[in-house]
Amino acid sequence: MIEFHDVQKYYGDFHALKDINLTMEAGETVVLIGPSGSGKSTLSRTINGLERIQSGQLIVNGQDLANPKTDMNRIRKNVGMVFQHFNLYENKSVLENIMLAPRIVLHRKEDENKKLAMQLLDQVGLADKANNMPSEISGGQAQRVAIARSLAMQPKALIFDEPTSALDPEMIDDVLGVMKTIANDSSMTMLVVTHEMGFAREVANRVVFMADGQILEDDATKEFFDHP
Ligand code: ADP
Ligand code: ADP
Repeated sequence: MIEFHDVQKYYGDFHALKDINLTMEAGETVVLIGPSGSGKSTLSRTINGLERIQSGQLIVNGQDLANPKTDMNRIRKNVGMVFQHFNLYENKSVLENIMLAPRIVLHRKEDENKKLAMQLLDQVGLADKANNMPSEISGGQAQRVAIARSLAMQPKALIFDEPTSALDPEMIDDVLGVMKTIANDSSMTMLVVTHEMGFAREVANRVVFMADGQILEDDATKEFFDHP
């Protein structure tokens, strides 16, 4: 589903991703860890073209993102992202936030769109917030809406970039719980940048450790935790 082959990424002279080789199969959940500034966010953002790579190959869903002819809109339809700071549309209700992209991008029929959005809200435990505005819900609830919003596009892969780092501690478990359910239930590929080692141990198939723009470890989860 996602393959990095000798990928290099520079910000000006700064070598942010060095010789990245990484493969994620369909349905796999990979947790990406490493010190601040090691390139985790950069790596995760290359996968849907939010950051371009300078050399190597990055194959996402059969298309090479290094090729300028690759249709980025098609990539973004298939690869969702959930960021640290959720970006809900503040002037739209929770339900509308979820229905918007499928309506505009996928032309999903209105009744079907609403039904799916309500199912997703139910799945993230927020069916009763459908008609609330983003300002009326908590940060943890908003992050769960952001996850539902990504799922509404029925992506093949979902990238989480520190989804719980900006949340109050009491909200973190709800968000991780939703992510765990998704990881277990779906054939979606998930890449999760997180400091939550409990989540990694319980949910990830693999743990990838980055430092200084390089991948230093890429281990099955059990190996990673048994031989630190
Ligand atoms: P992490 O997610 O592991 O904290 P990042 O991918 O955010 O790491 O950053 C990796 C390195 O790239 C850092 O040194 C950061 O300062 C640098 N960097 C990130 N984004 C940019 C940018 N847009 N321009 C220049 N340097 C950047
Ligand atoms: P446009 O420029 O077409 O108006 P934006 O780039 O502003 O769209 O994106 C609209 C919203 O979607 C923003 O909240 C942005 O953070 C989010 N977003 C943008 N690109 C992606 C992506 N590839 N995956 C997930 N969310 C995205």
